[in-house]
Amino acid sequence: MPHAKALSAIDRQNQIIELLTERGSVQVEDLVNLLGVSKMTVHRDLDALEAEGRLRKVHGGAALADTAQSNECSFCHGTIPPDSRSKVTMHMADGTHHHACCPHCGLLELPSLGNTVASVLVTDFLYGRVVNARSATYVVNPGLSICCAPTTLAFQAQSDAERFQQGFGGQVLNLTRAIDVLRDEMSLSPHA
Ligand SMILES: [Zn+2]
Ligand SMILES: [Zn+2]
Repeated sequence: MPHAKALSAIDRQNQIIELLTERGSVQVEDLVNLLGVSKMTVHRDLDALEAEGRLRKVHGGAALADTAQSNECSFCHGTIPPDSRSKVTMHMADGTHHHACCPHCGLLELPSLGNTVASVLVTDFLYGRVVNARSATYVVNPGLSICCAPTTLAFQAQSDAERFQQGFGGQVLNLTRAIDVLRDEMSLSPHA
């Protein structure tokens, strides 16, 4: 049964992305009706788009890929600049990502995520390199403010963190201790 206006796969996929950009998420059923193709074809299109990282499949439909929304901190909802030297990315067990504007937000959010977190990457403040959060060293509350207060910065090398501390002050801590200190600071803060 030929469809009156059969769209090419590329046209269909572009329409799906357009719709997603407009609505944030779409249902497979809606796409079947809108595009006039079978459920199987819709799934194939969604698979292809997911493989390209342009969306992620969710139950019964699809949502915009995280990369398209990655400029919002999932903790403080501040905007993360693309060239951020403090950005944190949390890879979740279900394949989604959480992004934080700085280790301050990332470290405070981490305990609430529990074992749904597969891995955490932080940005080395000096070099802009992405490093594993567990092996990084943190400087909490130095005498300058970067992003959220108390300022928390990550360093790949402990020696860099120490040199930074010599210049700007603050506490040099590993991941676990940095989380503890931040949680203490926040619970003392009247804004917490
Ligand atoms: Zn934040
Ligand atoms: Zn921040």
